[in-house]
Amino acid sequence: MTKKIAVLPGDGIGQEIVAEAVKVLNVLKSDFGLDVEMEEGLVGGTAYDATGTPLPDTTLDLCKASDAVLLGAVGGYKWESLPIEVRPEKGLLGLRAGMELFANLRPAILYPQLADASTLKPEVVSGLDIMIVRELTGGIYFGQPRGVRALDNGERQGYNTLVYSESEVSRIGKVAFDIAMKRDKRVCSVDKANVLECTEMWREVMIEEGRAFPDVELSHMYVDNAAMQLVRAPKQFDVMVTTNMFGDILSDCAAMLTGSIGMLPSASLDANSKGMYEPIHGSAPDIAGQNLANPLATILSVAMMLRYTLDEPAMADRIESAVNAVLDQGKRTADIWTEGCEKIGTDVMGDAVIAAMRG
Ligand code: NAD
Repeated sequence: MTKKIAVLPGDGIGQEIVAEAVKVLNVLKSDFGLDVEMEEGLVGGTAYDATGTPLPDTTLDLCKASDAVLLGAVGGYKWESLPIEVRPEKGLLGLRAGMELFANLRPAILYPQLADASTLKPEVVSGLDIMIVRELTGGIYFGQPRGVRALDNGERQGYNTLVYSESEVSRIGKVAFDIAMKRDKRVCSVDKANVLECTEMWREVMIEEGRAFPDVELSHMYVDNAAMQLVRAPKQFDVMVTTNMFGDILSDCAAMLTGSIGMLPSASLDANSKGMYEPIHGSAPDIAGQNLANPLATILSVAMMLRYTLDEPAMADRIESAVNAVLDQGKRTADIWTEGCEKIGTDVMGDAVIAAMRG
């Protein structure tokens, strides 16, 4: 049956990078038999300008009716002074909540060809391939009660609540174990079980969930040690699974191990593996409209979509191999360019990936 993809370019470089990813999808359709249809929607500042809201109902309806969403990025200088409830970023949060995307998958992959882009020694990071699975709709970012209250002594007190139910932990655990089965079969669950009761329970539930996956090796690590290990010896990890806040911090740290923000895709999945796929970077207003943006993170997001929602792993492999081949050819957008390589623009990079896919 034909699958449907909602395409939301968004703002800034979102327009340019999504155009390249759509070119890749069209080649998969015409040359390799991918059975999908695509429909565009508005989100972010562009949607606000056109409709007065960063997430029009028509866009949310389109996304809910689709199997997968391909998103560019939202935000930009133009919309920074808007009231917070209509800022572009609200469009993104509304999509995540409206589609119940509770599992955020953030791979940190360092292509050996780009080992010099990292601030860490090449031998520490070359060939790095970690998958961070972050719980996205629970934990301290959403827990109640929350707020700032006045104490009897007149002082203000800020408070938030870290809360997880067992079912929230087991469903994110299942996502992590399922992914590990497709990789090196190792899961490291990151918590702070020595201090926080909530994450002590997290650890117990992970152990229970892990019993259904006897082939996967489960380990546990306190978050402070995990942060240290990520910069000391990151290649020890395969899949890391953790809470919303710990995942927020650790996934940015892992992304920066690679040193190339324009290379990293992400996925956010619901309970039925329906998902939103997007690069981890923002709308880069400083380079928007100049054909300078690196489209590879967005093209690699399409590969994740093929693997995790559309169940077309061979096509995902084809994209990833093509990206590898293009890097081997020495082709680089400005953000990953080094002496001796060929500097190319956004559109030529998209064309190069397509040429390599056709082989
Ligand atoms: P950013 O990721 O947009 O840019 C950070 C730096 O990285 C910039 O110098 C930019 O030029 C560069 N960069 C980013 N992506 C690149 C690419 N594909 N190719 C080449 N260079 C790239 O982060 P920022 O500057 O902090 O934020 C800009 C806007 O994006 C803000 O409005 C922010 O709110 C928004 N934002 C959106 C998302 C999202 O849509 N998911 C994520 C982060 C930030």
